[in-house]
Amino acid sequence: MTYLNHISEAIGNTPLVKLNNVTAGVKATILAKVEYFNPGNSVKDRMAVKMIEDAEKAGLLKPGGTIIEGTSGNTGMGLALAAIAKGYKCIFTLSDKQSKEKMDILRAVGAEVRVCPTNVAPDHPDSYYSVAKRLNAEIPNSFYPNQYDNLSNTAAHYEGTGPEIWNQTDGKITHFVTGVGTGGTISGIAKFLKEQNADVKSIGIDTYGSVFKKYKETGIFDENEIYAYATEGIGEDILPKNVDFDLIDTFIKVTDKDAALMTRRLAKEEGLFVGWSCGSAVHGALEYARENNLTEDDVLVVLLPDHGTRYLAKIYNDEWMKAQGYLD
Ligand code: PMP
Repeated sequence: MTYLNHISEAIGNTPLVKLNNVTAGVKATILAKVEYFNPGNSVKDRMAVKMIEDAEKAGLLKPGGTIIEGTSGNTGMGLALAAIAKGYKCIFTLSDKQSKEKMDILRAVGAEVRVCPTNVAPDHPDSYYSVAKRLNAEIPNSFYPNQYDNLSNTAAHYEGTGPEIWNQTDGKITHFVTGVGTGGTISGIAKFLKEQNADVKSIGIDTYGSVFKKYKETGIFDENEIYAYATEGIGEDILPKNVDFDLIDTFIKVTDKDAALMTRRLAKEEGLFVGWSCGSAVHGALEYARENNLTEDDVLVVLLPDHGTRYLAKIYNDEWMKAQGYLD
């Protein structure tokens, strides 16, 4: 018999899929690393399990413990899957801009969800960062993974996703593109790829309303860069420890609208029913490929973090798209 002992063992070894239609006019080969094949339907399963395993080894998480995390939804799903396997409770704090589907999914896998206001500063007592920290201080035998600063996040991608991409491309990858939220995905993968071939370029996708691009270009943390935006999972108003700016060659900002439209094209033209930040990553990747005149010799891998179900009521809903002014 061939079977896994638990669904969390199905994490990783996701397929690399060539994009054929949205790439019109681009000479480079564009390959998508489709992370919705993970059991929690997102890239974040990988780091969630790694953060729990490392915390257990370090004695920070003990039997019967409670995992408390601030999450945009996907990390919570990964943590919940691992928690079920290991008998931990989960409490997640989410900002109220996250889709209702994500909150329902987290409740479905047994987590308690606390919804916090989006438009408050990170150090405000009601922010989802602060509420997670406070619950961690109040609840005995609780563990706060802190995906932003916990370097197990980067390590999961250095040990897993990076080698997968290198092997799947036979070492021919020339560019790697993904959205940057905590930074774990890009930092871990870029570190591994650049160790194999220092010429591999890494391109981080940022949002308008986030601090990353300006910080990379000027070294200035500019609060004027921070304003509300709609894309979920990427861009930040803080500098997480998992963003290693030395490993990211350049940042590209993509608007909420361009990201939403490209996500819908990925579903219709490629059969890839993916999440909003996937559209950000592909839009940015194609812009980079065009502006830098990438050739037939270039192999660009773009990582697609999650699945479209989480955005059915938003970008896959025509009325919602029209109300945002994203569709005529
Ligand atoms: N896209 C989505 C949908 C996400 O949930 C996340 C995680 N915040 C990212 C992209 C960015 O990944 P990372 O946190 O590793 O930078």
